[in-house]
Amino acid sequence: MTHDIVIIGGGHNALTAAFYLAKGGRKPLVLERRHVVGGCATSEEFAPGYKSATLAHTIGPLRPAIVTDMQLERRGVRFVRPDPRLMALSADGRALVFSTDAARTADAIRPFSAKDATRFPEFCGALARTGEFLAGLLDMTPPSIDAPSKSELWELLKTGRKFRALGKKESFALLRWGPMAVADLVAEWFETDLLQAAVAARAIHGTAMGPWSAGTGAILLLGAAIDPAPGGSSITVAGGPGVLTRAMAEAAREAGAEIRTGAEVRQILVKDGAVSAVVLADGTEIPAQTIVSGADPRRTFLGLIDPVELEPGFMTRIRNYRVPGTVAKLNFALRGLPAFMGLTGDPAATLQGRVQVGPGIDYLERAFDASKYGEMSPSPYLDITFPSIHDPSMAPSGRHVMSVHMQYAPFRLRSGSWSALDESLAAAVLRTIEDHAPGFTALVEHRQVITPLVLEQEFGLTGGHIHHGELALDQLFTMRPTLGWANYRTPLDGLFLCGSGTHPGHGITGASGRNAAREVLKAAPRRTGA
Ligand SMILES: Cc1cc2nc3c(=O)[nH]c(=O)nc-3n(C[C@H](O)[C@H](O)[C@H](O)COP(=O)(O)OP(=O)(O)OC[C@H]3O[C@@H](n4cnc5c(N)ncnc54)[C@H](O)[C@@H]3O)c2cc1C
Repeated sequence: MTHDIVIIGGGHNALTAAFYLAKGGRKPLVLERRHVVGGCATSEEFAPGYKSATLAHTIGPLRPAIVTDMQLERRGVRFVRPDPRLMALSADGRALVFSTDAARTADAIRPFSAKDATRFPEFCGALARTGEFLAGLLDMTPPSIDAPSKSELWELLKTGRKFRALGKKESFALLRWGPMAVADLVAEWFETDLLQAAVAARAIHGTAMGPWSAGTGAILLLGAAIDPAPGGSSITVAGGPGVLTRAMAEAAREAGAEIRTGAEVRQILVKDGAVSAVVLADGTEIPAQTIVSGADPRRTFLGLIDPVELEPGFMTRIRNYRVPGTVAKLNFALRGLPAFMGLTGDPAATLQGRVQVGPGIDYLERAFDASKYGEMSPSPYLDITFPSIHDPSMAPSGRHVMSVHMQYAPFRLRSGSWSALDESLAAAVLRTIEDHAPGFTALVEHRQVITPLVLEQEFGLTGGHIHHGELALDQLFTMRPTLGWANYRTPLDGLFLCGSGTHPGHGITGASGRNAAREVLKAAPRRTGA
């Protein structure tokens, strides 16, 4: 087979790009360094008979057009929209249950505050309207600031019209909320600390920011563009994200892409300012005049390319692109489902969505505080799911798996090393869960601890950053990954980016991969050579 494009990495964005490029008549070759495709979106066995959502446990959600174009449901992907979707645990043993219906959620809020219950549907509406406007930006290539093309100006004009159509109240809110600290934003709406924290947590998920950090309002809005439900819909896939990325790989192959696993790219070769080949870890050289990298921007530019090939100013900007990882991931094999205080009824029904431990704004901020000084949070913020509830085959009969996203575990520690800290990390998580589900520890049969260091070394995430780079106002849209290069192109002729380090870069949406493929098809003439 002759390839005309090499794609580095087999994450969900790269697979999406491969699919659209193949559909566009190109012949992509995907090279993934791990033994499985999917990147952060895999389902792997971590103890005999137990399989979990290895890293990510909910799905973006994926952009709807991608689900349709790749015919993912026909390929066996069963998307689950859990109801209840989110259970926020309070410090005093109560729980606030968010369902898929705003009115039912308002009823659940009423015992905490009648005022908040009244305001909740109004907040849902405001978030949905601003989110809908911003959703239009997700599928667009950020325009050039210096010299926008005619089509970019046209797109900007259309966006401006939609912005005006939002009305005064919502357009003002949009401008004001972005730079705000999410703690201030939620306090303008609600008085219940638990509700404030449940809504605000999405704005700090996977970032090195706390709810009082300026600009977290923008991350809340970005989240709303992808999924407007306050606190998130917790959409997932039966069998975990690995089922999704296997189906994406199948769609890409069927469209004409070739995918190789166990194929690590060590170097991108450059000749006269244009890419010419990739070199694999085993020394194999694969010629390529078009290369699309799904690895993060720092790994791509600082790890794979001889620095002499790039302009020093550009290199400085890439070095300044921030990747401060703060997340650890733990998977537990359990004898049975835990009984969380405040949640009544059959746990298999009540635990369908996410369980959040982060009972107040101050709690979340304190968890963040520790990480500012290079320490893991003694009382961490946890986001928990039970993938085996949606697919019992992920655990032996009667048993379960539990997936825990733990924050904050700073990649850079003040003292010690992550390789020696597995035990203390697991102990902090166990202690925190035990506080909300007495007897939990006795249910644990096995556990897997994935520190930020492991995220970097095994999963290829520079700095252990789950989004390939901080989601912050100065690293979004026209500035992702850096000003002047937000259009998926790079200073090297023939080299493109398609991973989460490009716009919009927020979870498993596939938007970066699809947008990048569109730009490659526009820019790169069909050439053979790989
Ligand atoms: C712990 C954790 C929890 C998360 N939770 C959620 C969640 O619940 N919901 C959600 O929507 N998102 C979540 N995310 C974020 C989301 O999973 C990622 O942002 C998204 O999957 C990134 O997709 P990607 O295709 O851009 O990159 P990746 O998935 O990172 O894929 C990049 C691929 O490139 C490969 N690669 C890198 N370098 C090379 C090389 N030199 N040669 C060959 N291959 C290479 C890597 O092995 C990897 O497979 C989470 C992420 C993590 C880490």
